[in-house]
Amino acid sequence: MMLSDKLAVKTTCPYCGVGCGVEATPLADGSVAIAGDKSHPANFGRLCSKGSALGETLGLDGRLLYPQMHGQRCSWDAALDAVAHGFKRIIAEHGPQAVALYVSGQFLTEDYYVANKWMKGYIGTGNIDTNSRLCMASSVAGHKRAFGSDTVPGNYEDLELADLIVLVGSNLAWCHPVIYQRIVAAKALRPEMKIVVIDPRRTSTCDLADLHLPISSGTDTVLWNGLLHSLRSNDRIDFPFLEAHTEGYAAALEMARQTAGSIPIVAQACGLKEQDVAQFFQWFARTERVVSVFSQGVNQSSSGTDKVNAIINCHLVTGRIGKPGMGPFSVTGQPNAMGGREVGGLANQLAAHLEIDNPLHQQIVQRFWGSPVIATAPGLKAVDMFKAVGDGRIKAIWIMATNPVVSLPDADQVRKALEKCELVVVSDCVSHTDTMAHAHIKLPAAAWGEKDGTVTNSERRISRQLRFLPLPGEAQPDWWMIAQVAQRMGFGSGFQYQSATEIFREHAALSGFENDGRRDFDISALDTITEQDFANFLPKQWPMTKAQPQGVARMFGDGQFFTPSKRARLIPITPRLPQYMPDATYPLVLNTGRIRDQWHTMTRTGKSPRLSAHITEPYVELHPDDAKKVGAVEGSLVQVTSRWGKAIARAKVSSDQQQGSVFMPIHWSDQFASCARVDAVVNPVVDPISGEPESKHTPVNVEPYIPAWYGFLLSRRELNVAQRSSYWVRATGKLFWRYELAGEGIPDSWPQWARELLCAQDNGPEWIEYLDPKAGRYRGARLVNGRLESCIFIAPSFHLPPRTWLASLFEKEQLTAQERTSLLAGRPAESKDDAGKIVCACFGVGVNTLRRAIVEQHLLSVEAIGNTLKAGTNCGSCIPELKGLIAQHGQGNN
Ligand code: SF4
Repeated sequence: MMLSDKLAVKTTCPYCGVGCGVEATPLADGSVAIAGDKSHPANFGRLCSKGSALGETLGLDGRLLYPQMHGQRCSWDAALDAVAHGFKRIIAEHGPQAVALYVSGQFLTEDYYVANKWMKGYIGTGNIDTNSRLCMASSVAGHKRAFGSDTVPGNYEDLELADLIVLVGSNLAWCHPVIYQRIVAAKALRPEMKIVVIDPRRTSTCDLADLHLPISSGTDTVLWNGLLHSLRSNDRIDFPFLEAHTEGYAAALEMARQTAGSIPIVAQACGLKEQDVAQFFQWFARTERVVSVFSQGVNQSSSGTDKVNAIINCHLVTGRIGKPGMGPFSVTGQPNAMGGREVGGLANQLAAHLEIDNPLHQQIVQRFWGSPVIATAPGLKAVDMFKAVGDGRIKAIWIMATNPVVSLPDADQVRKALEKCELVVVSDCVSHTDTMAHAHIKLPAAAWGEKDGTVTNSERRISRQLRFLPLPGEAQPDWWMIAQVAQRMGFGSGFQYQSATEIFREHAALSGFENDGRRDFDISALDTITEQDFANFLPKQWPMTKAQPQGVARMFGDGQFFTPSKRARLIPITPRLPQYMPDATYPLVLNTGRIRDQWHTMTRTGKSPRLSAHITEPYVELHPDDAKKVGAVEGSLVQVTSRWGKAIARAKVSSDQQQGSVFMPIHWSDQFASCARVDAVVNPVVDPISGEPESKHTPVNVEPYIPAWYGFLLSRRELNVAQRSSYWVRATGKLFWRYELAGEGIPDSWPQWARELLCAQDNGPEWIEYLDPKAGRYRGARLVNGRLESCIFIAPSFHLPPRTWLASLFEKEQLTAQERTSLLAGRPAESKDDAGKIVCACFGVGVNTLRRAIVEQHLLSVEAIGNTLKAGTNCGSCIPELKGLIAQHGQGNN
């Protein structure tokens, strides 16, 4: 083990909204050791596969390190002057509504605060929105309607105290793995705890479920209205609580009766079995300690806000809110979606949870900032913002730390909009992204480990992100760039910050300014925090007032809310169907989401070999009956088409997928695949209140994509395969790049084609190959001094040799004669040499190894597998898949 140069730095994971504490230790060899922070209350030392692999993502390859203008390196002064001049000129000519800022849940709170101040207080427009709009804006809107404030009532401990957890539209096992692991541990201690999963798909999370409700897409409000009515019919309403602390309950109950008045009606509308609906209603009715967790499956909908309020209604009528082990619980997708909400990062908010269309709130913020102007109306929300770029209303946009050409719905239109835009500024830590390709000015941003500030996780807990690496090249923090541009525009007095601490103090002071307990977000206990105390700040849940400086674990336990009447509001919910429903042309519904080991557009996780080993290619998951209907089989290529665009990916046939709907992951960009940006397919319909897009429901057609040939190659060098294949996917291996390929035209000579592709024209390397022209089969390998440099396999069908075994040959300094023979034969000498697709990313354990161990060694529990193969013993993210394999292959062994 290497001796460390420095002590471990306690920081926070930059991925999901769980907000796990991380200990990062820079080592003498330049690498960074990563471990879970045992003292952090979010994770108590646990990390998932993504968090565990953070050390593999910190290299400088692919980083943007210097400012550039029109493709040429330039000085910071020149770049900042150009941004300031460009924005100033366009504002002078077209007014402040002609400019916009599109930011990110990857921002630290301090970045967000300065960005929001610049746009709303100095430029005077609400046109700042964030990619968090795509993730949790419906929860914000639902909270505001119900509570008068955007408040998450409870915390993670409630999940351990609950007797019933309802997971709605939330694949926690893959998307919030450490929360999932906390629930797994709690259920192991108290097996009587019940888990209900409401999700159209049977996901890994269902592994833990006592009851899975595979609800029809878009019908959640009927189910929750049905529950509301059932609670009323069965006398489970807490009328004293309703009378004392709420308003609007009569109308909400009446609407529930009218729209979901019986179990058969609910079951039919939601595509569920009556007995399952009855079971859920019964458990909810009888269990006092209930937490309902919801995330993107609820939020990303044209009726997302209504879904959130339908859930909250059921907690309010039972008085189950703000007490240990109970409450509605929105979990955010991004690491600092909550921090963005706190400082007004959304176009329809002001800072410190103040309201943009409230004149009193406008005055409070403007007075506090001493700013020349203040935005008085909501700006354009994400989808509308890029429509305005497309039709020329917005002429200058600065995109920070996000990749909208991949992540926004109708993504091809977003690309076209940027192509036409007069001034596009992109700041990011990555040099090549689909969005960066359209930047006139590129600004190099500090990455995780180089930045300093705070983030807030899903349970309102503010934690520090600390710098433990030097700023590389000329990279700078995002807040610094905005402050520099603001100063160059003549707004110097408001932007003289020297550190993140100064910004945090101002943010804390604004939260308490003229507050008097009327606003939920108040961290004024920290408004004079010193640099030293900020450096040592321990995670705490807001509010942190002078009276309660240690924070507050749960909100609303006293029945007091932040509406004018101090009462929570029950909202009558009228179920609505999505705007676009399946029809003869687009008969299937596309659902999109995350996979276990990738994050967003893969700019960081795509650098990690072990994370790239779990799922290497974009895929379309289909029910077996649908697959049969459209002519797709496992492993074949299919094209998914909607009214908006198309994508091509590998078919995955599974009865976990509901008939009539298909699933595609969100992560692949044009940097990693030829045609797999799923958001090019997704419809741009949004929720009318929250502006959140309907990413879970797009009618599509699926058909086979049949190329003339299929293939793959592994190479120690990165290659340009785009010119020689019509379908390609790139993945990072431990010592190689992996490319999956397919093409529409057959070259005259495979050997020549392969040599050109692998740059094997030089005389030095040894070239071994096998060609069967009649069968259309070709295999070639390039060796240098007996070591495998690259290999390529071409076939007329997608049945190709196992990749994991071939990958293992790159670890050998010399290939033996037998390995050379096996290589050209396309199969290992012994079947045990092929580990198969990697399931456990931490220890590189493949599916074939696991299957064999389950069958031959009778490993019939996760513990037995862990003891023998170590799989599942580190981060635990693969445990649901291990259980699935045991269920599939272990039965004959009992
Ligand atoms: Fe990071 Fe995983 Fe924790 Fe999320 S669950 S914060 S991705 S370690």
